[in-house]
Amino acid sequence: MKVLKFGGTSVGSVENMCNVKNIINDGRKKIVVLSAMSGTTNILVSIANNIAHDMTNEAIEKINKLHETYFNTIDKLLLDESLNIDVKNYVTGIFNFLVECTYQEYSLHLENKIVAQGELLSTYMFNSYLAQEDVTSTLLPALNFMRIDNHKEPDMFYIKQDFEAVFNEAPDVDIYITQGFICLDEEGNISNLQRGGSDYTATIIGAVIKAEEVEIWTDIDGMHNNDPRYVENTKPISNISFDEAAELAYFGAKILHPQTVTPVRADNIPVRLKNTMDPEAYGTLINDDHTENGVKAIAAKDNITAIKIKSGRMLLAHGFLRKVFEIFEVYETSIDMITTSEVAISLTIDDDRNLDKILTELEKFSVVEVDKNQTIVCLVGHSIVNHHETYRLFQILQDVKIRMISYGGSRNNISLLINANDKIKTLGKLNDYLFELVTL
Ligand code: ADP
Ligand code: ASP
Ligand code: MG
Repeated sequence: MKVLKFGGTSVGSVENMCNVKNIINDGRKKIVVLSAMSGTTNILVSIANNIAHDMTNEAIEKINKLHETYFNTIDKLLLDESLNIDVKNYVTGIFNFLVECTYQEYSLHLENKIVAQGELLSTYMFNSYLAQEDVTSTLLPALNFMRIDNHKEPDMFYIKQDFEAVFNEAPDVDIYITQGFICLDEEGNISNLQRGGSDYTATIIGAVIKAEEVEIWTDIDGMHNNDPRYVENTKPISNISFDEAAELAYFGAKILHPQTVTPVRADNIPVRLKNTMDPEAYGTLINDDHTENGVKAIAAKDNITAIKIKSGRMLLAHGFLRKVFEIFEVYETSIDMITTSEVAISLTIDDDRNLDKILTELEKFSVVEVDKNQTIVCLVGHSIVNHHETYRLFQILQDVKIRMISYGGSRNNISLLINANDKIKTLGKLNDYLFELVTL
C-alpha cells in the first residue's frame, strides 16, 4: 500500500481538489494525508498570536473572514445539497470553537488546539467531496493514533499499535484519508509536528505500515537543485539519496519538512515528490541509491544566530567543549554548525528563544560575540567533499564574506555561513557557476 500526501496548494482550491481526486482514484488501496488548505495555518497562527496579545477584535475579525472564505469554497465544491449543509454545519462548529478560544487566556495548549483546526477542516471537506463524486473513502482521525513523546519525537510504538487499531476498525475501502501535521503529546493534549509537518505524518505512517512508497504531492515538479523562490532557472533533480535529501531538508529546502526521510530510510521505503498540477512530470525519487558525485543541490536556512565563544586560556583544556555544549543542552537548543580555532569556537543556532539565558551562562567563563541575521547556505551531493570540482567553490565566492565554513562533517555536505543580505547573490552565483556551466 502507498501513502500519498497532498500539501496546502493541492487542497487549496476546488480545481486542485479535483486533481487530487483524479490522482488517488485508481482503484488501489491507499492512505491519503492532507494538509490544511494553503494559507489557513498561517491565519490560525496569527489568530493565536492576537489572542496572546489581547487583540480579541482582530482575532474575531480574522475568524469571521476565514469562515466566509470556507463557505464560498464549500458552495463551489459541494453542489450536492445535503453534503453542502452537512459540511457547513461541521465547519461552523469549528469556527464557533475558534471564537470561544478568543475568550480564553492564551497558552501554548490553546494555540496548538487552534492551529490543529486547518487539517480537520480540509479532510472533512475533501472526504465529503469524494462522496459527492461517488468515490468511496473513509476518515481515519489522526488524533486517534498520531502521538509524540516528551522529546517531541513520534512515539512509534504507540502510533503503530493505535494506527492498526483505527485502521482495522474502519470500513474496508480503497481510500483512507487522514490529517497531516496534528498529533497528541505525551499527556494527550493536542499538539503538532511543527510547520510543514504533514510530510512527516506521511513518512511516519509509511514506516508504520511498511508502505511500498510514500508520495509527497505538492505545487512543484520535485526537489529542485536550488531554491526556486530566490533563483531563476532551477531544475528538478530526478534522483536523490536519503542522505542528500535529509541534509537539504534540514538546511532549508522548504519542499520537505526537516525530518521527512527519518522514519523511512532504515526500511528503504522510497519517497517520491510529485506535482499535483502536473502529475505526468517525473518529479524526484528519494531512495538509497547514490547515483552521481559532485554538487547536486543548494539550500539556504535563514534566521541563524552565530555565537563566538572566546577563551584563550581554557579552550584547549579538556572539559571546555563539554561545558559549552552542556549549556545548549540544558536550554534544549540544538547547534547546527561548529568551527574551532586555537582561541575561540564559533557555532550557530536557529532557535534563539533561550539565547539570553545561554549567553549569561557562557559569559561566566568566556567572552562572547553574537551575530544575528545569518544564513546557512548548504551544498549537498554524494561525496561532495571529495569531488575534483569542489575547489571552484572558493573561486566562485571570492566576493562573498563567509563567516564560517563547515567541510567534512559529512561527505555529502559543505555549509557556509553568510550574512542574510548576501543570500540571494550567493545562491544565484553558485547556481550560475555550478549548474549553468558558466566558466570563470
Ligand atoms: P506544500 O504546501 O505542498 O507542503 P510547500 O510550500 O511546503 O508545499 O513546499 C513546496 C515549495 O517549496 C515550492 O513551491 C517551492 O517554492 C519551495 N522550495 C524551496 N526550496 C525548494 C527546492 N529546493 N525544490 C523545490 N521546491 C522548493
Ligand atoms: N498545515 C501545516 C503548515 O502549514 C502543515 C503542512 O502544511 O504540512 O505548516
Ligand atoms: Mg510543506
